[in-house]
Amino acid sequence: MNELLRWQELLDPKARRDMEQQLLRACARRKRMALCVVKTPRTQYAFWVPLTKDQKQSPAQALATARPWLLAAKVYPMTTARIDDDYVSQRNTPGKTTLAGKRIALIGCGTIGGYLAELLVKAGAGLDGGELLLVDHDILMPQNVGRHSLGLHYALKNKATSLKTELALGAPTANLRGLPVKVQEAGLGTLDLLIDATGEEGLSSQLTRRLSDSGKFVPSLTTWVEGPGVAVRALLRDSQDQGCIRCMCKAHGEQLFPVVQEAMPDELAGHGCESLYVPFPATVSIHAACLAADMVSDWLAGTPAPRLRTALTRRGFIKATEDTDVPRRENCPACS
Ligand SMILES: [Zn+2]
Repeated sequence: MNELLRWQELLDPKARRDMEQQLLRACARRKRMALCVVKTPRTQYAFWVPLTKDQKQSPAQALATARPWLLAAKVYPMTTARIDDDYVSQRNTPGKTTLAGKRIALIGCGTIGGYLAELLVKAGAGLDGGELLLVDHDILMPQNVGRHSLGLHYALKNKATSLKTELALGAPTANLRGLPVKVQEAGLGTLDLLIDATGEEGLSSQLTRRLSDSGKFVPSLTTWVEGPGVAVRALLRDSQDQGCIRCMCKAHGEQLFPVVQEAMPDELAGHGCESLYVPFPATVSIHAACLAADMVSDWLAGTPAPRLRTALTRRGFIKATEDTDVPRRENCPACS
């Protein structure tokens, strides 16, 4: 112990005095051991030291004989790791703003939303007074698990509440809430960001309309898969001047920002009596989640452009539109 105290004195004499006094006080109280965690401006270190040599001594006797004994005591070094929320959410993106403190709603906890929710939590969502709302009325069917972040143990359970349960295991301090209701019925309150991962164009337009009608602008991000996993896209609307998903096509439906130069394949699958669905692997959903998470990060950093981004996820196709901003269309039925 003497060697450690002398080393600590070289770095900070006051810290040495404080440490020694604390340990002597613990000796006087006849504590059996002391665990010391020393926090410094650059790092922290820890050790434990056995203290009581004679339980029969009174506190005064223990204190009187403690110092020489303490100096000779063996020190057991320990490993420490910072796991506070600020550090964990910032250590991989030093100097960048995280989602901590923000109120975010993620609409749609399906194949994209599941992976995206995990990335949002890793970026600080739900920390420091923030909240992450997970909204989905749907249940996880056993056949969904092939491209969903949730496993079979959540089969036949609601996706939103299951996702909340799963994420809370790894991030117990994050404020997460699962809402097992249709978005039309969800009370979302005041939001800093709404993320639409439903992948349903009609619902996305409805959401935009609802946000417009509320009279208070809310930044929103929509992400989806194009065709049977040909590409993934995301559109950020961070100001009223920016276009919404409905602004991406003319009134009669003609695409203003086509995805690929080739014709989009029309592929559907379905086994037995289950309804038809568009097949694509989990990797495509993960691409969409990553694209959306990167755009959220850019929005936080104050560099939101380009607001419409496309990433091809199937070989043999050529991008038809470079990443760009989408201007708001006059008389758009959703955002005007
Ligand atoms: Zn619009």
